[in-house]
Amino acid sequence: MSKFSKYFLFFLFFQLICTMTSFADQPSEQTIKGLFYRDCEPVEIKIADGRIAKIRHLPGEEVDTEESDTYVAPGLVEVQINGYMGVDFSGEDLTLDGVREATRELWKAGITTYLPTLISQSHERLKGNFTILSQAMDDSEIGASIAGFHLEGPYISPEEGFRGAHLKKYIRKPDWEEFMEYQQAADNGIKLVAVAPEVEGAIPFVRRCVESGVEVTLAHHNGSAEEIKEAVDAGASMSNHLGNGCANMIHRHNNPLWPQMADDRLTPSIIADGYHLTREEVRTFYKVKGADNLILVSDALDLAGLPPGKYERGGRTLQLTENVVKFPDQNVLAGAASPISKCVSNMLEFTRCSLKDAIQMASTNPARQFDLDEIGEISQGKRADLILFTMEEGEMIIQKTIVAGKVVYSKE
Ligand SMILES: [Zn+2]
Repeated sequence: MSKFSKYFLFFLFFQLICTMTSFADQPSEQTIKGLFYRDCEPVEIKIADGRIAKIRHLPGEEVDTEESDTYVAPGLVEVQINGYMGVDFSGEDLTLDGVREATRELWKAGITTYLPTLISQSHERLKGNFTILSQAMDDSEIGASIAGFHLEGPYISPEEGFRGAHLKKYIRKPDWEEFMEYQQAADNGIKLVAVAPEVEGAIPFVRRCVESGVEVTLAHHNGSAEEIKEAVDAGASMSNHLGNGCANMIHRHNNPLWPQMADDRLTPSIIADGYHLTREEVRTFYKVKGADNLILVSDALDLAGLPPGKYERGGRTLQLTENVVKFPDQNVLAGAASPISKCVSNMLEFTRCSLKDAIQMASTNPARQFDLDEIGEISQGKRADLILFTMEEGEMIIQKTIVAGKVVYSKE
């Protein structure tokens, strides 16, 4: 036997030991106890081979003190997040390691599945970053938590106010060939693309996206009622962060908000971080669309999770305060910095909705919107993506996060 073969055999043996050790770390079967998020009654959930094997509802029964104030819910599903803990998915220094790090941090906030979101950027940057993100989707550690990608821009309104914080130089007209290059770089992982319905070429672009299985969301636009209807007829199914990506001064009758609220075929996402919308707006969207037809998103910038302070991004100075990002010289919003767990807590407070409804808007609805049949609910046979949390002074505090049966975060 050659020296090389001996080393190779030793390497194989070492790999086998490592694999056995990692299985030993995470038992293939475990039981979770807590209060079921839908009725706040005790429940026992058996997990086997990464799936929910059995659910036993124990109404009226006492649970151990440790679990008496711990809720169990499906993991949160986030469909608009630009980065986290300093890792910018549209940034020039994005790496696979960075995406791993951001994902581990998101697990701590209860997010078990997400769509990394890329915003209006140069052609080369978008292609390059989608290539990195497609590797993340196949990664053995974090791949299960990445269900695809969201491209917000560059096919949005270039108008001041409507384009929000997107840089004008990167905004372009919808271009199917260009989009196909991104889709190829993303290994067909782009699941959602944002479009302004009034820009030239938008309607045929929406149609082609939907035919190819990509969802279209109306975003950063000043579409008329007719243009919005045309886009929805062509297959657009969502409104991106409704109430934001809109100029401050708009016509009281003819503005893009009313037609989007009035059309039942549109499921809006909203940023209920307490800064991007007033409580009254959140309540109104909730009343109009209902818990079945609304999705909570964080739209968090990469600064989310970092200590408050001033940061440089894309040649601009941003001020990160406790829960939001501003342009310090104008004192206007530059972006969000709260994970959706915070938005869940806010929905409970702003609308007085049930815990069941708040979780539905942050898990079940986004999973259903993207045909993610394996997740978003606690029922037998589904993938065991679960969160255990307590509610402390109205805040959702994540105690444990489980992805495909594996504990990926534990507060203790
Ligand atoms: Zn936006």
